[in-house]
Amino acid sequence: MRLNNKTAVVTGAGRGLGKGIAKKLAEEGAHVIVADMASAEEAVSEIVAAGGSACAFKADVSNQNEVQALVQFAVETYGTLDIMVNNAGINRDGMLHKMSVENWDLVIAIDLTGTFYGTQEALKHMRSKNYGRIINISSGSWLGNIGQANYAAAKAGVVGLTKTAARENARKGITCNAICPGFIETDMTLKLKEVNEGAAWDHMMQKIPMGYAGKPSDVGNLVAFLASDEASYITSEVINVGGGMIV
Ligand code: NAP
Repeated sequence: MRLNNKTAVVTGAGRGLGKGIAKKLAEEGAHVIVADMASAEEAVSEIVAAGGSACAFKADVSNQNEVQALVQFAVETYGTLDIMVNNAGINRDGMLHKMSVENWDLVIAIDLTGTFYGTQEALKHMRSKNYGRIINISSGSWLGNIGQANYAAAKAGVVGLTKTAARENARKGITCNAICPGFIETDMTLKLKEVNEGAAWDHMMQKIPMGYAGKPSDVGNLVAFLASDEASYITSEVINVGGGMIV
């Protein structure tokens, strides 16, 4: 129970990676606010059924007022906010020369600006108590990936934002790190199984040295470590969870 009585917010946690992260933080003893655009009640029920402490909050991370309300809710409900995990993200893939401005703007608004709102709101509270852990979910695609100009730009932006937040707040007892998942089994990636009768999925498996997709818990384990006191001297890092895929 490395996170006993800590308060954590995880965005985009109704399903997928965020849900895996929320479950792990609750297993480690944290009170978790499971934030999502839609209802996150199912994820909360699973956590509570397993003996954890969690509650749901509806927030669209691309809306600054809703992110402010989310952090305010955490502080009012549990008295503090110790851990902020900016996980919510989407992709709208397409070749750059055909990409619509709408798909560019949408991905930047949620994946990058949403992470900015979450990081900024968390900092306002964390700086006042000289303690905090901010963990931003980037992606191995931040290094560039065919068909993902909008997503790669957003996720590279998350790396720059994270490293700046880390340096600006290092003397305030706040760490800020980015995690780059490779290929994790969630709704975002499972849709590949429908492309070319599964051939696209098989091709992806060949690109992963370990030969299989990761699980949300693989990312959750790293988040729990970075959120713990064991990681108090680790900040401004970008850590891959990709089965050897990201080089
Ligand atoms: P997912 O299965 O599509 O789940 C995304 C979650 O984010 C959903 O719960 C979704 O809510 C929520 N969300 C979407 N837009 C939101 C918004 N504006 N405000 C709040 N919540 C929002 O995706 P995932 O695979 O779990 O991805 C989670 C994060 O990991 C993303 O940042 C993604 O870029 C990153 N990532 C994933 C992989 C991977 O292999 N899966 C690899 C690298 C990075 P709804 O249910 O309401 O739609």
